[in-house]
Amino acid sequence: MKKRILSLLLALLSLFSLAACGGLLEGEDQADTVSGQLEVHFLDVGQADSALLLCDGESLLIDGGNSEDSSLLYSYLRNRGVKRLDYIIATHPHEDHVGGIAGALSYVREVGTAYSPVAEDENYFFKRMTSKLREFGVGLTVPAVGDSFRLGGAKVTFLGPVELTDDVNQNSLVCRVDYGEVSFLFTGDAEKPAEKMMLDAGENLSATVLKVGHHGSSNSTCYEFLRAVNPLYSVISCERNNDYGHPDDRLLSRLNDAGTNILRTDRNGHIVFTTDGSLLSVETEKEASSAVSAGEAEEGGEPYMYVGNVSSKKYHRPDCSGLPLEKNRVYFYSLEEAIGARFTPCGLCKP
Ligand SMILES: [Zn+2]
Ligand SMILES: [Zn+2]
Repeated sequence: MKKRILSLLLALLSLFSLAACGGLLEGEDQADTVSGQLEVHFLDVGQADSALLLCDGESLLIDGGNSEDSSLLYSYLRNRGVKRLDYIIATHPHEDHVGGIAGALSYVREVGTAYSPVAEDENYFFKRMTSKLREFGVGLTVPAVGDSFRLGGAKVTFLGPVELTDDVNQNSLVCRVDYGEVSFLFTGDAEKPAEKMMLDAGENLSATVLKVGHHGSSNSTCYEFLRAVNPLYSVISCERNNDYGHPDDRLLSRLNDAGTNILRTDRNGHIVFTTDGSLLSVETEKEASSAVSAGEAEEGGEPYMYVGNVSSKKYHRPDCSGLPLEKNRVYFYSLEEAIGARFTPCGLCKP
């Protein structure tokens, strides 16, 4: 396991917090004082979503991956001794979000409250989840925007969907988890239409860590939304070489422009954030993280995403096994920059 305590980023975070306080004082609540710890586990469930949050002895599962991830969910909870899920949020009735919740429900002995954007749906996996929840005597709670609950010392607030539409993805439950000065925004498969509605509603969307919408589809995480969230980290949950081309290059470019640190389950495996409400650390299952983070700075240098070879005019991913000699390297901060410089992609790492 790789552990990085990002003191530099934390210093930046404090600056952001100070800046945010100025705005907060004008009307919104100030950050609560907290004394424990919040862990946010983004699970590597392939082309799907799942996050387990543990805070001061309480637990929240946001989505559970595909049906085939049931055993992963089961063993992940077992390994951490999570026998009770105080809260479940099923962001929307698609298999890649609710399918594996069945595995979690096979392990835990108790369930508190289960949230969903709809009380009923025809999706087979959604129905299976609701019938399993009934065995615990738990029905579905459909929250309204602005509703919130306590997860230990953390506060979970629903920010979306502002309005239900015909598109199941846009109906995803969106919530922000605040713990002291650190916050996480979970977006399910929400894309631009849902983002626009939240922006138009004037909601406070700012967050330290953003779970990027819809597995990194090109239609999610528009510039305006990204500006409002202003995340220090962006987590993309997707499978390597998935059929959808996620994450989309245009999305990656937007994240890169925003200067956010990109973490991806397809490359980093499980991604675990731990915070005491002011300091934030991140642990990834696989080393690839450092190689692909857009904001990962070289010693004293600028962050970069692609490594060009001035002699062959090819550009590579920073983790490519065929990187050029140091003297032949040039660094690009976006795909556009590499292409604009008339470099062509390496055939090996296929950036
Ligand atoms: Zn979906
Ligand atoms: Zn999805």
